[in-house]
Amino acid sequence: MKLVADTHTHTISSGHAYSTITENAVQARINGMEAIAMTDHGPALRGASTEVHFMNLGVIPEYIDGIRIFRGAETDIMDFSGTLDMPDKILSRLEFVIASFHDIVITPGSVEENTEGMINALKHPYVDAVAHPGNPVFQVDIDMVVRAAGEYGKLIEINNGSFRVRKGSLQNCLEFVRKCKKYGVTVTCGTDAHICYDIGKFGKVLEILGEAQIPEELVLSTSLKRTEDFVSRRKAAKKAAASAAKGV
Ligand SMILES: [Zn+2]
Ligand SMILES: [Zn+2]
Repeated sequence: MKLVADTHTHTISSGHAYSTITENAVQARINGMEAIAMTDHGPALRGASTEVHFMNLGVIPEYIDGIRIFRGAETDIMDFSGTLDMPDKILSRLEFVIASFHDIVITPGSVEENTEGMINALKHPYVDAVAHPGNPVFQVDIDMVVRAAGEYGKLIEINNGSFRVRKGSLQNCLEFVRKCKKYGVTVTCGTDAHICYDIGKFGKVLEILGEAQIPEELVLSTSLKRTEDFVSRRKAAKKAAASAAKGV
């Protein structure tokens, strides 16, 4: 299986990452990618960008050095009711929003609480995927989370960085992919690169996808077209949700 879209990357705007968007795009091309999502951390994470960063993402071209840039965010799940660290008016305008738990923002809860928080994030109209859901520090009921992703038409991310920084993620990630295959839920792949050189390096992710024998059509990152189609479908859904919220 070949992966061409890395849907989880950081730039210097995250505060603890070290490359610019241009450096990321150039290196993404060298590393064999066709697309990346620019998913800098939301304001809840110390040293990350303010809301203004996300409001201004429209200045970033769709393509840099031939690489499609999906303008997005990694928003923090702040509590188990699924509150996010960015307002709807900003999230609704982004192309690719991933939501995640970080233990420097929220203290991990019970499996029931973590599961509830993750499902509520998946239910959020402007969230496209949950990021590094296999982190055992925030253990969830994998079956329930995958079924919720299917119900809301959202993605489960398999995160290559987890195998380095979130120890114990391997078994959970394998289980996530197996359940996605079982329920026909789409997986997206992110490196969580905090420096350009790591973009598109999916070693362990590829091993897990292979081991679970998930079909290519359930892996978003295998095709730019598949990723574009998902983003445009979600764009329409976000627009409808925004209109409904305004009572239009
Ligand atoms: Zn993260
Ligand atoms: Zn990240």
